[in-house]
Formats: sequence, structure tokens, C-alpha cells
Amino acid sequence: YEGKAKRIFACENPDRVLIEFKNNATAFNAKKRSEIKGKGRLNCKISASLFELLELNGIPTHFIELHSETFMFADKVNVIPLEVVIRNIATGSLCRETPINQGEILNPPLLDLYYKDDQLGDPILTEERLKLLDILTDMQLEEVYKITRSVNKILKEYFESLDLLLVDFKLEFGTNTSGKLVVADEISPDNCRFWDKKISDPKERILDKDRFRQDLGGVLNAYEEILKRIEKDSSNAT
Ligand code: UDP
Repeated sequence: YEGKAKRIFACENPDRVLIEFKNNATAFNAKKRSEIKGKGRLNCKISASLFELLELNGIPTHFIELHSETFMFADKVNVIPLEVVIRNIATGSLCRETPINQGEILNPPLLDLYYKDDQLGDPILTEERLKLLDILTDMQLEEVYKITRSVNKILKEYFESLDLLLVDFKLEFGTNTSGKLVVADEISPDNCRFWDKKISDPKERILDKDRFRQDLGGVLNAYEEILKRIEKDSSNAT
């Protein structure tokens, strides 16, 4: 299977897949496209580190192990067509679609659900519409909420220690071949927003895909900075 930013290969073991992180960048529902050399490697390594951190904190994820710099082994999952966004600071679509001000702290964090469908443009869902779609059980939905809030707490504290603000991010979920609900997809600057805590300039502080969305330049440098801080932290830990 080939998606916008990843390629998925079957493995001999039917419970596993090999995921390749590509250099393609897309935004605005793939209306804006580019290739950013080196992005695949950075997103693969950043995602692997963050999945490891989550697993250490008891969060079930599809991650198994890195295969190489741009490939990882993961559980084969049936992806639930749901994008779960959690926001700590208001920006992006929340500020385009509501009168909430940019940079407003959201406490408690705001959780938004979107239906994952490119043709429909990933529309926002109410809980009742989600129930009508019948893409997950009530129990799975409760688990999705619980896991997303825990992931946010773990990652927010972790990035705080790296002098980064975790503004918001999107998670996807799937069920593996044992039927277990796990966090799938990736966790990288492609689907998280990070602001440098020590920079106040609203454009300069951006260290994520918004640099690509807003044509700010320095996309790869920003992703490299995220990996550098993660790696510096892990060398401190060992
Ligand atoms: N996001 C994503 N995929 C999407 C839409 C959003 O990964 O299809 C991420 C995005 O990177 C950000 C968060 O979800 O970290 C919230 O995005 P928002 O709803 O503000 O949408 P945007 O402003 O990007 O259109």
C-alpha cells in the first residue's frame, strides 16, 4: 500500500508490516505537494523514539522496532478512519473556524474528531455523527479518548523538558491482528505542532510542518532540530 508520506510492505510474518517513510510532503489535503530530501529519515527516527517513549509509559502502539533509518517494523493493523486531534494551544483550523484567539491556552486540552477521508476533506465529526458511522465501538471510543489524553500528558511533559511547546497533534488508531486497539501511523513534525519555548517570534518559533504549509522555509532544519533535542535527551539518559 502506498500513501502520501509512507509505503507499507507485507512481511513474511502476517502480523507485521514494514513501513517506509517517504520524503514527500503534502498539505491542504494534498493540494500542495513537494519533496523534502531527508524528511523520511527524520520522521522515521522521531516517530520511533516517541513510540518507544509511549510504550515505556504503558501506551499500546503499533511500533515494533526500527529496521533502518527510513523503515520500521510495526503491527499490521486495520486503521480506523478517524483522526483524533488534541490541542493544548489554539492555532490552525480551530482559529480559522471559531473566534478563539491564536495562542490561547486550552486547559483542559481540546479533543477534536475528524473523519479520515481525503475525498470528503477530513470533515470534523460530532460524537453523534461518529456513532452513526459505526467505525468503532463505544468501548473503543472511550479507550481512544483515554489513550489520547494520556499520550498528550506524556508528550507534553517530555517536550517541555526539551524546551518545546507541544501545541497540538493528530493520532490515528487501529486494531492489530490480536484485535487490540493501538496507536498507529506516525508521531512526527508532520502531524504535531512544536514551538520553540525560547523564541517568541510567532513564525521563527515554528518547528513543524507549518513551515511547509506557510512557505516559511527551513522545513528540514526544523525537523532536524526536533530529532537533535530528542537524541541529546536520550544520550543524557544513558
Ligand atoms: N493534522 C494532521 N493531519 C491532518 C490534519 C491535521 O496531521 O489531516 C495535524 C496537524 O499537523 C496539527 C493538528 O493535527 O498538528 C491540528 O491540525 P488543524 O486541525 O489545526 O489543521 P490545519 O490547520 O493543519 O489545517
